[in-house]
Amino acid sequence: MKLKRGVKVETCRVCGQPTRRSGYLHRCIDSQCGAVHWNENVLSQALDDSKVFRKILVDADVLEWISGQKYVYVLLLKGKGIDALYVGMTGLHPYERYLNHKRGYKASKCARQYATAMKSFEGPMTYEEAISREITKANELREEGNEVYQN
Ligand SMILES: [Zn+2]
Repeated sequence: MKLKRGVKVETCRVCGQPTRRSGYLHRCIDSQCGAVHWNENVLSQALDDSKVFRKILVDADVLEWISGQKYVYVLLLKGKGIDALYVGMTGLHPYERYLNHKRGYKASKCARQYATAMKSFEGPMTYEEAISREITKANELREEGNEVYQN
């Protein structure tokens, strides 16, 4: 099955189930999983053009951020010898932040290179809540046996 722009249906990079695509964003159909990933073709778009960037978010049904709200998110990092998680905090919608990681905007090298999917996010919450949640989330994931990167 092919969709517009000739991009095939992709499976979830976390659980392997089918995804539903809006614009360049793939959302896992399993709500228990809830992972998303950006189609790699998005990186060939003029992401530095704010109008293009905004349209990509709108096409992907990513809601506008609301000032003051914070989120804590978990990225899946996969690549050469790396199978880990990245925990971060953002004032943007987490999917927008994930796209910024992919395009290298305010992004650590490992997240830019290896962010394969966004596993989950929590929020909105206050800044203070997000500061402490980022720490406890990373610790919880480490206790579950994951290698966890943070900024
Ligand atoms: Zn999934």
